[in-house]
Amino acid sequence: MTESNNNLVGLDKQELRDLAIALGEKAFRGDQLFRWIYRDRVQSIDEMTNISKTFRDILKRQTAVVPLAVEHKKVSVYDGTIKFLFRLKDNLKVESVLIPPTEAREISEDMRRLTLCVSTQVGCPADCKFCATGTMGFFRNLTVGEILGQIIEAGRHTPRRISNIVFMGMGEPMLNYENVMKSIDIIGDDEGIGISPRRITVSTVGYVKKIKQMADEGRKAKLAISLHSLDDSVRTRIMPINRKHNVDELIDAAQYYWKKTRQRVTFEYIFFEGLNDTEKDINMLRKLSGKVACKLNIIPFHPIYLPENSELRETLSPPAGDSVKKFVNRLQQQCDFPVMLRSSSGIDIDGACGQLAVKEEIKK
Ligand code: SAH
Repeated sequence: MTESNNNLVGLDKQELRDLAIALGEKAFRGDQLFRWIYRDRVQSIDEMTNISKTFRDILKRQTAVVPLAVEHKKVSVYDGTIKFLFRLKDNLKVESVLIPPTEAREISEDMRRLTLCVSTQVGCPADCKFCATGTMGFFRNLTVGEILGQIIEAGRHTPRRISNIVFMGMGEPMLNYENVMKSIDIIGDDEGIGISPRRITVSTVGYVKKIKQMADEGRKAKLAISLHSLDDSVRTRIMPINRKHNVDELIDAAQYYWKKTRQRVTFEYIFFEGLNDTEKDINMLRKLSGKVACKLNIIPFHPIYLPENSELRETLSPPAGDSVKKFVNRLQQQCDFPVMLRSSSGIDIDGACGQLAVKEEIKK
């Protein structure tokens, strides 16, 4: 088994088939295990009733269905968003956020939408200056079992079906590429978690090689890119990745992705008052459509704690008054691709974009 402990959660179909064979059974028993674990989400091997008692006993001696421990959960009084804090085996912690539809548009269009925002790493090495997770530093990658465990566990806290998965929690998914892609295969499998890959989104700060790899491998999940500025000098100040891959390289990679997959790319753009909200910014954004089929999500900056000596303390400001709405309106008038204002669901429980950080509790 490749999962680091004896947990069955995290093994893919082939690994479960191999396990069945190694334990003296036929390969199809592995397929049965796969369905019990991910589709039926059993909490123990004994619940796998179409598997013989003898094989169940053998399995129980070597393996288990290990749940991801919920340390606590917080529910937003405004919009019903739920934030989970999970405790991992080594006592490190990560968060996930379950987001019901909030916009009137979403509610009327799709009452069934329920999005889970999952983490891929403990902390994050990308070090974006505006992001709470970035201030934690980096601890380690999550295993496949820990990524899927967030979905399985969160699903137990709602009577509704989770319909969408966004890899927008703690961490940079492209730096844990293998485990994230393996998780997506299991999430997208009808016999597994069973959420269509069209409803799974991977968000990256801009690791261009991985963006191209996703395209080359024909991955069906959707791609989102955290853009935040098309001006190299601004983007470099707030996102260290821009020193490695500048804006041109990033947009080239997005274009490569679009040409190869014919899938529209989502650009995420945090609105910082006075920093990336000028006519010049609108002009640059408008021209994206000549290069890549896209849509643009504007996210109001959710302030985080910045150290007193941070030179960005004065620079990173949230929208004042209705400036973000006006910015979005101007973009909507000038761009020939969809531009949306993203909601700040879960803001009261520190569950909105960029607010995920496990503070003192992270220490072992
Ligand atoms: N590392 C990946 C996945 C995390 S996604 C990525 O950055 O794309 C989290 C999203 O929230 C990103 O678009 C990120 O830029 C945005 N975000 C981070 N900090 C934020 C803040 N303080 N306010 C609003 N959005 C923020």
